[in-house]
Formats: sequence, structure tokens, C-alpha cells
Amino acid sequence: MRFTCQPGCTRCCDMEGYVYITEQDLKNAAGQLGLTPAEFEKKYVYRTRHLLRLRKPRDRQCHFLLHGGCSIHENKPTQCRLFPFWPELLESRKEWEKTGRRCPGIGKGRLIQIGTAHETASEMKLAYPSMYED
Ligand code: SF4
Ligand code: SF4
Repeated sequence: MRFTCQPGCTRCCDMEGYVYITEQDLKNAAGQLGLTPAEFEKKYVYRTRHLLRLRKPRDRQCHFLLHGGCSIHENKPTQCRLFPFWPELLESRKEWEKTGRRCPGIGKGRLIQIGTAHETASEMKLAYPSMYED
């Protein structure tokens, strides 16, 4: 498979859905913004029993999509960093093709070995175990 993220593209940041974050993602993003983890959580995070997700602003999918880019790029959440190598996309040709219609990087550029793609996807399972329980 081929994939190269396209310069200037932010389409995946605008796709319908939630951005789930890890405890470490929370600390990293808070640090970048000069906030304590508790301050960051109060302002930007919705915590459920097993998961943390970013709150959504009214007018777009993510608070951090600003001026045509991710304003916490260096500390972006794990799921953002690993996209599109998510288990649910790699394990279904239909889902991969569907995502390819929305992500212009899919099918372009660098050749990625399937084993490497699955290795990347396994990081998702480690980061969000409750989402991938059988
Ligand atoms: S939609 Fe695809 S090409 Fe565009 S920013 Fe996201 S990963 Fe990169
Ligand atoms: S955190 Fe950054 S990379 Fe993730 S959806 Fe928001 S703007 Fe996009």
C-alpha cells in the first residue's frame, strides 16, 4: 500500500468523529499550551469511565484545528499521529477504500509494507485498549 500525508491537507481533522486521547497525550498537549494537565482537561477533555476524548467546539470538529493546521502538531494525540493506520481501517478493505476517498494521501507516494502498517496500527490497540477489546 502507498501513503504519504499531503502538505497543507487537514481533511482528517475535519472528519466526523471523536479524537480520543491517552493520559500521556493529555499531559503532552497541556505542556505545549502552558497549562497543567488538570487545566487542560477541564477546558478541552471529556472523560468517561474508560476513555478520554477531546471536547468539540460548535463550529468544527476540533479546537486545535486553527489557521489551516494542527496547533498542537508536535504533541498531537496518538490517533491523529497514527491515522490512517488504524486497525479498523487496515482490517477492512472496504473501510480502507472509503477512507481513501476522503484522505488524499492514501494511494500516493511512499510504499508501506503491510507488516509495517500493522505494526503502526498495533500502537492504537496499546493506546486505547478498551476500544479494541474482543
Ligand atoms: S486526510 Fe490524509 S493526507 Fe490529509 S492530512 Fe489527513 S492523513 Fe494527511
Ligand atoms: S488534535 Fe490536531 S491533528 Fe488531531 S484532529 Fe485536532 S487539529 Fe487534527
